[in-house]
Amino acid sequence: MVNIPEIFAENVFNENVMRDKLPKEVFKKLMKTIDLGEPLDVSIANVVANAMKDWAVEKGATHYTHWFQPMTGITAEKHDSFITPTAGGKVIMSFGGKELIQGEPDASSFPSGGLRATFEARGYTAWDPSSYAFVKDGTLYIPTAFCSYTGEALDKKTPLLRSMDAISKQACRVMKLFGKDVKRVTTTVGPEQEYFLVDKKYYDQRKDLIFTGRTLFGAMSPKGQEMEDHYFGTIKPRIAAFMADLDVELWKYGLLAKTKHNEVAPAQHEVAPIFSTTNIATDNNQLLMDIAKKVALKHGMVCLLHEKPFDGVNGSGKHNNWSMSTDMGENLLNPGKDPKDNAQFMLILTAVITAVDKYAKLMRLSVASAGNDHRLGANEAPPAIVSVFLGDELERVVRDIIDGGESAVGGQAKIELGVTTLPVFPKDNTDRNRTSPFAFTGNRFEFRMPGSSQSIGCINMMLNTAVADVFKDFADELEGAEDFQKALNALIKRELTAHQRVIFNGNGYDDSWIEEAEKRGLPNLRSTPEALAAYDEFVDLFEETGVLSEAELKSRQEILLDEYAKTIAIESRTMVDMSKKDILPAVSSYVKELSDIACNKKTLGLNADLEIKQIERLSALASDAYDKTAALEEVIAGAADVEGAQNAANYEHETVIPAMDALRAVADEMEVNTAEKYWPFPAYDKLLFGI
Ligand code: ADP
Ligand code: MG
Repeated sequence: MVNIPEIFAENVFNENVMRDKLPKEVFKKLMKTIDLGEPLDVSIANVVANAMKDWAVEKGATHYTHWFQPMTGITAEKHDSFITPTAGGKVIMSFGGKELIQGEPDASSFPSGGLRATFEARGYTAWDPSSYAFVKDGTLYIPTAFCSYTGEALDKKTPLLRSMDAISKQACRVMKLFGKDVKRVTTTVGPEQEYFLVDKKYYDQRKDLIFTGRTLFGAMSPKGQEMEDHYFGTIKPRIAAFMADLDVELWKYGLLAKTKHNEVAPAQHEVAPIFSTTNIATDNNQLLMDIAKKVALKHGMVCLLHEKPFDGVNGSGKHNNWSMSTDMGENLLNPGKDPKDNAQFMLILTAVITAVDKYAKLMRLSVASAGNDHRLGANEAPPAIVSVFLGDELERVVRDIIDGGESAVGGQAKIELGVTTLPVFPKDNTDRNRTSPFAFTGNRFEFRMPGSSQSIGCINMMLNTAVADVFKDFADELEGAEDFQKALNALIKRELTAHQRVIFNGNGYDDSWIEEAEKRGLPNLRSTPEALAAYDEFVDLFEETGVLSEAELKSRQEILLDEYAKTIAIESRTMVDMSKKDILPAVSSYVKELSDIACNKKTLGLNADLEIKQIERLSALASDAYDKTAALEEVIAGAADVEGAQNAANYEHETVIPAMDALRAVADEMEVNTAEKYWPFPAYDKLLFGI
């Protein structure tokens, strides 16, 4: 048995270790940087670096790496050893403040969206002291931000940190209005991670899984998720062993792994940590995805993080539970029991609702990816339309305020801000409103649109920025008010009235919602290229909040469009490859066997109608598949003539995807008509029920 408290965070250079290993003064200064975002005093870096190195070497580390999060969405690392030569031909292990604070990876191959031409400076990594360093596989990992030499962000972390500062600054102003001297407001996040596990021996036989992370062909197995017997079901021994190992590994890295269970689709599961500050939650989630993949391999399985590995069953998301917390530990989305707090809560809530409505397109584009396009709006995940779920009780309060105290619902006492106790809002444990993209769940919002493979860095950066902007407007208005209470009431009422269209408590899967949302004027950006095109609308927001410059924003848009086009290009090429090299030859072999049988039967004077029918059917399908493959090849070639990132993404979406869908339909039809032993790779039954 592992002693959990003992192993917990054993690989992490966290606050406890720092208190233990650093001189008191150094520790205090470092904590100020960590807790309050104060700039780091360079003089202490040497001391910290040395202590870190000694600790890491004790843990078996020989190298260190600046661990960063380029725009590829995954993490990057380059390892340097601690060795320094000494006179006499020996070495010592050394690590200085300079190396801790700044690194220079030869990172010219990372996407920069035109921000940094390859012949220019390489970009540098800068230590992020607010996220703990850790030792993994013999290397000291130092979380860092990645910037160009001119200071432009080339990663997902820099803007996230900037957005945390932006929202903190404005939230502190808002708290001051209520007489609270708050120095820092941090956003908190608890990401619930969904994933699939498949047997490695099946995975290895599928080029689509290997190259793209999802099945590009595959007819549904006779059983899917219709019995709803997997969700929260008993966990199979092999999966349970994986989950137990995963927990231990995560705990060693100080991740607060808390919940694990089977999800809706067969072979689908979830792991959720206890929430932490956004920055740490983001780093931790990247680490979690990495560790989950490695632990799965040890168990002979592959962990699929793709948003839609299988057609016909649910895809995977990453519910982003989000709130804000002061340095005094007050959760700003907690309604609280004291009536005098209700005005503060309602103002914060109003700000979030306003931000989500005002920046609905931004919220939508923050989760846009080729993988997530298969989920959003597919009756298994929220629609692509952004709306807010408040629950009956809270919605009643909101209506009451909008209607000026005349309760819209059954004669409830009118809500007087600062006087009335708010009703108790049930914490959402039941998932009764799974269809909402952005749901209030008692003391936080749960953003349900993010895809399972996405970094939550950008998502939270955009959410923080949107709310920071609204906080700023609110603080500007209320700071100057003569009668604060009166101005506050007026503002809340005005903003809720203006933005109530985004509130929707109904069923987001229902087609009628699409119509209703359109009537309400809510945007519905159906695909990634369409969503990413909306980037241009947010230049002012990001510049004014100081989170991204126009050049940085444009570079991000370009990188993501490019990533989208490349993803579809790889998928389409993989389909052509599988069709020509595997599927068509397999069907021919089967047809040959059928023909042999038919000939034999005829020689014996027997009726061969059955085989002939099958041969005819399969030959027709194969001929169709051949044509559809040729058509796909043609549109793939056509991509070369398309210029510009937006056009390239549009082309893949509008022209290549339909050709892929057409080929898949015929191929899947052939699959169900071909003997299993001829089919060139394991089918859905093995992938979904093979463990
Ligand atoms: P549910 O199924 O009800 O959504 P889960 O336990 O699966 O609940 O996930 C809830 C997530 O929300 C957890 O990661 C939890 O730590 C997180 N959470 C709780 N409170 C907050 C908060 N104030 N800020 C951010 N996340 C929170
Ligand atoms: Mg949940």
